[in-house]
Amino acid sequence: MDFDLNEERRMLVDTLRKFVAKECPNEFAREIDESETFPHGLYKKMAELGFMSLPFPSKYGGLDGDIIDEVLIIEELSKASAAIGLTYFLSTCFGGKSIEFFGTEEQKLKYLPKLFAGEMLFSLALTEPGGGTDILGSLKTTAEKKDGCYIVNGQKTFITGAHVADYLITVVKTGSGNDEKKSGGFSVLMIDAKSPGVEIRRLKKLGIRATGTNEIFFTDAKAPVENLMGRENGGWSQIVNTLNNERVALAALSVGIGQAAFDYALNYAKEREAFGRPIGQFQTIQGYLAEAATELEMARLLTYKAAWLQSKGKHCAKETAMAKLAASEIGFQVALKGMRILGGYGYMMEYDMQRFFRDAELFLVTPISNEMAKNFIAMELGLPRSY
Ligand SMILES: Cc1cc2nc3c(=O)[nH]c(=O)nc-3n(C[C@H](O)[C@H](O)[C@H](O)COP(=O)(O)OP(=O)(O)OC[C@H]3O[C@@H](n4cnc5c(N)ncnc54)[C@H](O)[C@@H]3O)c2cc1C
Repeated sequence: MDFDLNEERRMLVDTLRKFVAKECPNEFAREIDESETFPHGLYKKMAELGFMSLPFPSKYGGLDGDIIDEVLIIEELSKASAAIGLTYFLSTCFGGKSIEFFGTEEQKLKYLPKLFAGEMLFSLALTEPGGGTDILGSLKTTAEKKDGCYIVNGQKTFITGAHVADYLITVVKTGSGNDEKKSGGFSVLMIDAKSPGVEIRRLKKLGIRATGTNEIFFTDAKAPVENLMGRENGGWSQIVNTLNNERVALAALSVGIGQAAFDYALNYAKEREAFGRPIGQFQTIQGYLAEAATELEMARLLTYKAAWLQSKGKHCAKETAMAKLAASEIGFQVALKGMRILGGYGYMMEYDMQRFFRDAELFLVTPISNEMAKNFIAMELGLPRSY
């Protein structure tokens, strides 16, 4: 067993830290949050440094890295801003990994180089208003094949980055509904986000505001048949690979937010004085920080382990769900402790702790809710399916 990063990954982390210090100072993170502005310029700079191409095969212009590199990048970016971590994640995982996992050879050759160059943005349009947890039961968007196109009708909600995306990786119903399994009859289409019949409306939300979240209405929207990803009616078993990558990547994002909240609170505890001494001298405050540091280390180790298992192609449904569950709960709890340590200043918008707190809260419910993550873990432990 070796807990060290290899030389290449140490260099990656070093490069990331320098990049973040130069390009994503606190003022920038705060500014994009307040103005709810997608960081297009920064996205392009990340691409120039090879962050987009790193976790992809060189056959398509990638740098032959894997999900461990993806995790390290997301963690470091998210320490500066969860929205910046998510900006990287959206196109790399939802677009790039979906195309790599189950796109056609033509799609890989056509879209991956543009993604690596920072010229293309993707979103995943899966969730519908009827409910995200029972996703298979509530997915109603249909796609009917006609004259060389799929005609798409339906509604999606909570779709992050759709307002800036070039393509929406959209899960649709193409089967009759009488397929042998509940997960049959779904397909994945790449839909041009700017095409007629696609209406995107931005939603107001609590955190991670720079990467906006949207509802989408499809009214006779058209996707050419060559935009089908993988197999018709085999979409669910394919998209599951993207969703497994997503859980580990977003666990890393929660670790990044938690670490940022911890660093901020630790500095504050050293500087803020009460009763003539730094508040960090009080045992209660020390307890908060000692617990937070320990929990963050646990979350990081579980996240890295899940990433390592995925990188080896091993079965890791349990560890992936555990990493998502632990990292999101811990990221949020650390931010909550940070709010306590800052006292009244935690509640003030000019201090960053409220941003960490707002941002961390999201991952208790997404990409799957932690209640559902526990259902999955319980099943992996051999208990009966509860839903
Ligand atoms: C800001 C934001 C960004 C998002 N971005 C995207 C995106 O880019 N693409 C996308 O497709 N989706 C996205 N989502 C959707 C997200 O994945 C869903 O919100 C999530 O899956 C939960 O679905 P729901 O909100 O409909 O809750 P519901 O499914 O209605 O669940 C409500 C509550 O019931 C609980 N519950 C339901 N069933 C069970 C059960 N069997 N056992 C125990 N508890 C249960 C849930 O845990 C939850 O607490 C985003 C959501 C948000 C808020």
